[in-house]
Amino acid sequence: MAEARVLENFVAGGWVRSSATEVLDVPDPSTGSLLARVPLSTSADVDEAVRAAQKAFPAWRETPVPDRAHRVLKLRSLLEDHLDELARTVVQENGKTLEEAQGSIRRGIEATEFAASAPTTMQGFVLEDVARGIDTELVRQPLGVVAGITPFNFPVMIPLWMAPLAMVCGNSFILKPSERVPLSAVRLARLIGEAGFPPGVFNLVHGGREAVDALLVHPGVSAISSVGSAPTARHIYTTAAASGKRVQALAGAKNYIIVMPDADLSKSVPAILSSAFGQAGERCLAGSVIVAVEPVGDSLVAALAAEVKRLKVGEGWAPETAVGPVIRAEHRQQVLEWVRTGEREGAKVVARGSTPDRSDGYYVPPVLFDRVRPEMTIAQEEIFGPVLSVIRAASLDEAIGVANRSRFGNAAAIFTRDGKAAREFRYRIEAGMLGVNIGVPAPAAYFPFAGWKGSFFGDLHATGRDAIEFYTRKKVVTTRWF
Ligand code: NAD
Repeated sequence: MAEARVLENFVAGGWVRSSATEVLDVPDPSTGSLLARVPLSTSADVDEAVRAAQKAFPAWRETPVPDRAHRVLKLRSLLEDHLDELARTVVQENGKTLEEAQGSIRRGIEATEFAASAPTTMQGFVLEDVARGIDTELVRQPLGVVAGITPFNFPVMIPLWMAPLAMVCGNSFILKPSERVPLSAVRLARLIGEAGFPPGVFNLVHGGREAVDALLVHPGVSAISSVGSAPTARHIYTTAAASGKRVQALAGAKNYIIVMPDADLSKSVPAILSSAFGQAGERCLAGSVIVAVEPVGDSLVAALAAEVKRLKVGEGWAPETAVGPVIRAEHRQQVLEWVRTGEREGAKVVARGSTPDRSDGYYVPPVLFDRVRPEMTIAQEEIFGPVLSVIRAASLDEAIGVANRSRFGNAAAIFTRDGKAAREFRYRIEAGMLGVNIGVPAPAAYFPFAGWKGSFFGDLHATGRDAIEFYTRKKVVTTRWF
């Protein structure tokens, strides 16, 4: 198979073979057919990339900020020109629908646009006369070499949350993408090369745990930005921080959606369905548990159940597909096991969708559970599949209490027509990204993005002004002229 090649790393502006002895297959989740093979790069490969990034750093750091921003703008126009091709790669290796892939790349382009405003956002500030004839100024400078570690569910968008911002701030960057979606990263590296970033400013190292662990302790790496599951995030945060690095580690999620008795169900139900089942539930902002504040439960469950049975599961290419495959056969088994656990613990399946009549591809039927209790496993663990649970509550107060007992706090939403209820929710809920009558509170790139509690390890969030703070360090200069 011509395309089932072993992928190469992108280091110092060229494609190089990894020294890995282990390679993994990269299948198309819609069909199971082999797309490529990805090397599990070694610490020697990581060291080579860090050296290239270190070598590129001094000249890049001295490149004027507007010139760095021009490369980012060039990258932005290349991303626009290649949007369709990138989206097709995402559909092919991730399985999400074409519309979902295009939407996520648009968000990545937005992050690139925000990065291009660095000549404004990187500015420091000055106070004249901190003492007689003495002025103090703050300037922002890059950190050096920064690494990004990304998950499988947004193969283009999440690397674009990191690389353009890190580079425009004057850092050189190493991307370690998910080994399950390496092809989008390859396309991205080509476009970044074309945009005119000097060799070594952007590097791509494929791999898994060994490559990550090498980055976490490498003395040449100053900061780590990562997005992934909760155990991975905890490991990355503790290991990198212990070796003196700046870290932000965005983690897993279990997102609660509160539905009030006065919610407009004709608009709320489609938004909830898209939140829970869009991208086959493989989204860190996916609504996973509904807390229905009575008496809305019965009518809400009936409306959701009717729609869940109608959801079309299939290949991401097909325009009628609402739910694509999940990422791997093992993940499908895990999701099905969560469903069995829910049934064993006494939750009631009130609707189960159907899967395409074919033996290939990793398709999971969408499932709606009712009568879920907050202590059940399916109400607490991240399933990352097309499974939605409904818990009934007697009041908003009880609903907020249920949601706040989760150890996660990535996102939460409320559906209501009552401004006071919405304010109460906004004030008391313990999560980082909130939606009011919005099922997926996806942020714009010019706002910071991250969860709370077990959904985030670190201080500065991703994107927005927080990203400028994350990718720079502050220097304060006090001056007197005799
Ligand atoms: P993952 O944790 O399996 O992998 C993420 C990255 O870490 C990959 O690059 C992987 O190679 C690496 N990795 C995996 N295991 C590792 C280990 N033991 N040691 C070192 N590195 C390791 O996550 P995933 O399955 O690719 O992505 C889905 C997860 O990411 C979900 O939990 C989802 O909620 C989360 N996520 C969170 C956000 C957010 O903004 N909070 C956004 C997207 C995804």
